[in-house]
Amino acid sequence: MEHSRHITIIGGGITGLSTAWYVQQEAARQNIDITYTLVEQSDRWGGKILTETIEGFGERPFVVEGGPDSFLTQKPWAAQLAHELGIDDQFLPTNDSRRQTFILHRGKPTPLPDGVMLIVPTKIKPFVFSRLISPWGKLRMGLDWFIPPKRDDGDETLATFINRRLGQEALDKIAEPLLSGIYNADAEMQSMMATFPRFREIERRHGSLIKGMLAAQKARQSSAPDQASSMFTSFKPGMEELVLALRQQLTGDCRLGTAVRQIAYGPSPTANWQLFLQDGTILQTNAIILAVPAFVAAQLLADIAPEAARTLQTIRYVSTGTISLAYRRAEINHPLNGFGIVIPRSERRRINAITWSSTKFDHRAPDAYALLRVFFGGSRTPEMMAVPDDTLLPVVQAELAEIMGVTAVPVFHRIYRWQQSNPQYDVGHLQRVAAVEAHLPERLFVTGSPYRGVGLPDCVRQAKETAVNVIAALSTQSPETAVIRVDRKI
Ligand SMILES: Cc1cc2nc3c(=O)[nH]c(=O)nc-3n(C[C@H](O)[C@H](O)[C@H](O)COP(=O)(O)OP(=O)(O)OC[C@H]3O[C@@H](n4cnc5c(N)ncnc54)[C@H](O)[C@@H]3O)c2cc1C
Repeated sequence: MEHSRHITIIGGGITGLSTAWYVQQEAARQNIDITYTLVEQSDRWGGKILTETIEGFGERPFVVEGGPDSFLTQKPWAAQLAHELGIDDQFLPTNDSRRQTFILHRGKPTPLPDGVMLIVPTKIKPFVFSRLISPWGKLRMGLDWFIPPKRDDGDETLATFINRRLGQEALDKIAEPLLSGIYNADAEMQSMMATFPRFREIERRHGSLIKGMLAAQKARQSSAPDQASSMFTSFKPGMEELVLALRQQLTGDCRLGTAVRQIAYGPSPTANWQLFLQDGTILQTNAIILAVPAFVAAQLLADIAPEAARTLQTIRYVSTGTISLAYRRAEINHPLNGFGIVIPRSERRRINAITWSSTKFDHRAPDAYALLRVFFGGSRTPEMMAVPDDTLLPVVQAELAEIMGVTAVPVFHRIYRWQQSNPQYDVGHLQRVAAVEAHLPERLFVTGSPYRGVGLPDCVRQAKETAVNVIAALSTQSPETAVIRVDRKI
């Protein structure tokens, strides 16, 4: 009798795919006999990573991203994965010589002053002369230097934190559109400890954000003066390059169009698992990794881990959408001199942000064309998710005309709607995640964007950690209790 251990990974987004990769790598490294099945309910791999290539406008195609358009390189895990897969020669860093972020201020795109690191001003002159913040608002931000730090580990909302350190104007004009925007979150609910723990750490260590950011800047300059690499990168053919490379190099049993309907404890007395698939198949397995949204994990765990399921249900989601619009460059009377515009909630617009994709990256539009991408939905404009496509386009065009003066008719557009797509890390999130993990049965894991980081690097990091943990858990299980995977129809 064969004693191969078998792992089932549910969900074929970046987390599920990279968990499969690291299971494969770790099993090979430790020279242990482990097989795996990766199941994805839809007919494509990648989950929220979706790239469309559109030909017919010149020598080069348009590369349109429906989901993520890049990832943060300071968190190394996604870049490391690309390196392991041999696709790091396809990296496409942002065009940093043209990096400039605009913030909509009283209806006008206003540059974020040079030297503002995320939210904290580190250069005096550009900040003092900026029109974005009023003189009183600037003084209030400067008080950060003197305000005593909060030294405990208690969580608080982003709004409370920014108000406490930098004041209301910094919250409205910078932190809310930039820091809550990344998470599609509501600053009044967003957990500081789950989304920007680094700011709390800086406050604790340096007593002030400004002092901490200046110290960090100084340390960076003295340690690596010539290594000014880009903060974000994509891949030349688009973000799906990562998904394709993963899929090509996975040697396990990978199944599309395969939804998991139910999980049950499996054939007693081995305490392993049975998965009931939508197509009527039963899959027996030794360990399960759930790389699906929290509300799907909650449904699947309702019978076998009701306590964990109840907590998973409390992780809120919002829906978001993007619309990409392609134009003849000559028809846009705007310099597109930056990466785009973020729009504070207080401006009360119907869209959340505009990325100038063909300035932010090369290889995104053919010569003589420009590509813009508009974000809608989320916590700021949830009503836009219900607007039908044929109404959405004119609404977005009207916004672009008012904000940027773009009145041209796009040569094409693409709308991507992501229902219940963005997990909300509300205050207390990390405690909720710890409570879920504490109530999971043995050899069953949850991982990915709902838990400890939504960005691609954090999804990959969690995948890697989970792969190591599952193999460790299986190594402690005696071979006699291991089952061989069998599929049967019921
Ligand atoms: C519009 C948008 C823009 C973004 N931009 C960026 C960005 O620029 N940079 C960045 O780092 N991050 C970005 N993100 C966040 C990032 O894309 C996501 O957090 C990440 O892709 C989530 O990956 P995941 O594998 O955890 O989840 P998902 O991609 O959601 O994958 C989960 C998978 O599980 C499958 N599934 C669900 N139920 C079942 C079931 N019962 N059985 C089998 N399969 C099931 C789903 O079909 C899905 O494929 C963006 C997100 C969105 C929506």
